[in-house]
Amino acid sequence: MNKPKVVILGAGYGGLVTGTKLEKILKSGEADVTIVNKHDYHYVTTQLHKIGAGTASDDKVALPISELIDPSKTNFKRAMVSSINPSSQTVTLDIGEVLEYDYLLIALGFEVETYGIPGIKEHAFQIRSFRSTKAIYHQIHKQFALYKEDQDASRLTFVVAGGGFTGVEMLGELAEGLPALCQNYDISSDLIKIIAVEAAPSVLPFFEKESIDYTNRVLEKFNIDIRTGAKILECTPEMISLENNVEIPTRTVIWTCGVKANSIIQDCGLPIVKGKLPVDAMLRVQGMDNVFCIGDCALFMKNEKSALPPTAQVALQQASVCAENIAASIRQSQLKIFEYHHKGSVASIGNLAAVGKVGKFRLSGLFAAFMKQVIEARYLFILGGPALILKQNLKLKRGSVKLAAKN
Ligand code: FAD
Ligand code: NAD
Repeated sequence: MNKPKVVILGAGYGGLVTGTKLEKILKSGEADVTIVNKHDYHYVTTQLHKIGAGTASDDKVALPISELIDPSKTNFKRAMVSSINPSSQTVTLDIGEVLEYDYLLIALGFEVETYGIPGIKEHAFQIRSFRSTKAIYHQIHKQFALYKEDQDASRLTFVVAGGGFTGVEMLGELAEGLPALCQNYDISSDLIKIIAVEAAPSVLPFFEKESIDYTNRVLEKFNIDIRTGAKILECTPEMISLENNVEIPTRTVIWTCGVKANSIIQDCGLPIVKGKLPVDAMLRVQGMDNVFCIGDCALFMKNEKSALPPTAQVALQQASVCAENIAASIRQSQLKIFEYHHKGSVASIGNLAAVGKVGKFRLSGLFAAFMKQVIEARYLFILGGPALILKQNLKLKRGSVKLAAKN
């Protein structure tokens, strides 16, 4: 008898953890599981901003997928998904292959939302993938080198657009990473300008006042120029324009103004609500028995009005239940209902400060920074158990990451 084919699209938090859980749940020969991902490495998205500022080494953030899965139980295919075709139960890959599936998991993650603002897509830098974030690091080096030739101050002006979690984390890393780079290029760190631009009246607008005040104090201590209530209207290679005719000359705009689901899901004939795939309580795409979706592509309503946010925490919790539900579907047994348990959120502001809320408790300072490290270690534990935590922290040497993927 043919084994049921399970195809998992995406080896981010959601896809990879579902795959590794299935390795534990499924009996030998019970199903044929394939993970498709456009790179042969998994990137730790929650640490990507460090790659942009050069404050973490590549091998801390990009982990070879071959070391995270058991190749005797899971097939890995490195390819771009070009289209998903639920009517024929197939997925078309850019390498000219068509994969058939009995059960499909869509876990293709996020894309950066640019809201159609002129010039953002073309000229701003994005924290979207390992490769797109590495481009920020190269840009910073390039601008330092060019500044030595022309002394154009706009080359040493770095704008982080968006003061949400990603923006604040990026600001903290830049503030810590750029002074070290100044030494390499023999440039005074006093010449560096880091500017935070946020449309809302404050950074981290969804946080309580005390946490916002703390964040502002840390950013100000880093000499970051905070411009709030300032909506970005346009970006060119040499400046950004804000509301009220303000223009900031800069060669480097790091755009962190929000995310949306991977656009590949839009045209696959599945229902779309608010740009995402609506899923039922068992994480199946509405109206489908054999297509699951989790993470940033999924719209899971936590109540009648609001959906779960696009976070690693959500993707990881969903992955665990999704693996059980894929196995239950194969075995034609009862599927589990997914219930989300919010454990809290903590944003780093550099290495030694962070801000967040865990349960009822507001956290800030060094303790919050420690908690952020604990959360990151927990993610690693879920991905690869204690062995991965040891490997990452002892920095056992791996080969450097090859950036052959398109993005
Ligand atoms: P992803 O992790 O984005 O994985 C999607 C995978 O699919 C990737 O491997 C991608 O390469 C692959 N892929 C995409 N398109 C294709 C294609 N066409 N073909 C093949 N493969 C494809 N959340 C938290 O809870 N805590 C945090 O501290 C936190 N920090 C963050 C920091 C940053 C800088 C950013 C940007 C996000 C952060 N988030 C955090 C959000 C979190 O990273 C995402 O919600 C999470 O990664 C979503 O998981 P996912 O599995 O849905 O998608
Ligand atoms: P976000 O949507 O949370 O924040 C984007 C910010 O950009 C908002 O404050 C918004 O007001 C601002 N903005 C939008 N348009 C603008 C414009 N034209 N000009 C100026 N400002 C503008 O997006 P994010 O920070 O990228 O986060 C994405 C997801 O990832 C969220 O769910 C977040 O919780 C999660 N995340 C979590 C962590 C963490 O837990 N430590 C870290 C990073 C990201």
